[in-house]
Amino acid sequence: MLNKDTYIPYGKQQITEEDLNCVINIMKGSHLTQGEEVPKFEQYISSLTQAKYGIAVNSATSALHLSCLAIGLQEGDYLWTTPNTFVASANCGIYCGAKIDFVDISEDDGLIDLNCLEKKLEQANLEGKIPKILVVVHLAGTSCAMAEIKKITEKYSIAIIEDASHAIGGQYNNEPVGNCKYSDICVFSFHPVKIITTAEGGMVTTNSRRLADKIRKLRTHGITKDPGEFIREDNYPWSYEQHEIGYNYRMTDIQAALGNSQASRLGEIVIERNRQLNSYKVLIKDKNLPISLLKIPDNVISAVHLAVVQLDEYNPNRHLNLFNFMRSNGIGVQVHYSPVHLQPFYRKMGFREGDFPKAEKYENNAFSIPLFPGLTEEQQLRVIDVLHQGLK
Ligand SMILES: *Cc1c(COP(=O)(O)O)cnc(C)c1O
Repeated sequence: MLNKDTYIPYGKQQITEEDLNCVINIMKGSHLTQGEEVPKFEQYISSLTQAKYGIAVNSATSALHLSCLAIGLQEGDYLWTTPNTFVASANCGIYCGAKIDFVDISEDDGLIDLNCLEKKLEQANLEGKIPKILVVVHLAGTSCAMAEIKKITEKYSIAIIEDASHAIGGQYNNEPVGNCKYSDICVFSFHPVKIITTAEGGMVTTNSRRLADKIRKLRTHGITKDPGEFIREDNYPWSYEQHEIGYNYRMTDIQAALGNSQASRLGEIVIERNRQLNSYKVLIKDKNLPISLLKIPDNVISAVHLAVVQLDEYNPNRHLNLFNFMRSNGIGVQVHYSPVHLQPFYRKMGFREGDFPKAEKYENNAFSIPLFPGLTEEQQLRVIDVLHQGLK
């Protein structure tokens, strides 16, 4: 039954002639990296998100790592995130020697549960284990309730990182995700399955000059070329100084050229994604299917990275059978995500089944169905048709 020509993946990139021309232009020029295209991309994304600073890096994973370092996360500290995310949201804490803990999700939107957060913080406060960093994840492109999160966390002085890997182009309270109004740092991913792509790539946005300077320096070995910052007095015209240990996490100009071209379509892409999500919603309702899409709050415009459906009645067996039925009929469904705390690496730290029941339930009740620019109406009808058959 499986046929390569009719297989529909859950997500994929869209590359236009214009994208190709932009990339070729840079490849024919003088700077494949460290040219003008990267600063241009940073400028573009920071103005689009209305953040003061944008720093491009080679992945969102690198962006998360540098963000944690810049905030000063270290051994003995805690980083909290939700279990229903990609492992990178937690791994960034491990890179810095910190301990990881999780806050469960709410079932109807897959986002951090604010009640769980509030209670867990009260408990952590009693034990003197308040986290230094909270990474909130805008799952499927839908912003978390940032104002409420800020209100709950501010009395404990916790740094907030928004993992907006899914959410570029989205809005919260009529303002762009990434403006960092309620957070210290926001991180985007440009992996090909995400909203816009640079193949591999990521971006940090922040309004803090101190964090931006630090991240920029750590991105390139901990080196500064600014004579104003030099410590040695015997400097030469060719001098640069390394002040701390950093990395090579730079984005190339080839990638940034693709990013600039893609970002110029961001508005249209987000509209198209919302349109497709809405079509699914209508079709699910028309056919009276016993499944629901994730909830999106009224004050959020989701970037719609994923179209996630959940069975109205929790039934792991039915979920597994339906998942297999979809795959064997050429519909590329996927579960986003298997909870991070149950990964073997995190189990070694003592996490186990039952720790975060709502995230565990979600894994066995939800999956993403195809949604990407260029997905046709006919293909959407086929997805719904196969779902319909599988649910009979
Ligand atoms: C994709 C993703 C990342 C990592 O992004 P890369 O650019 O591949 O490093 C981190 N967090 C979430 C939630 C993601 O979906």
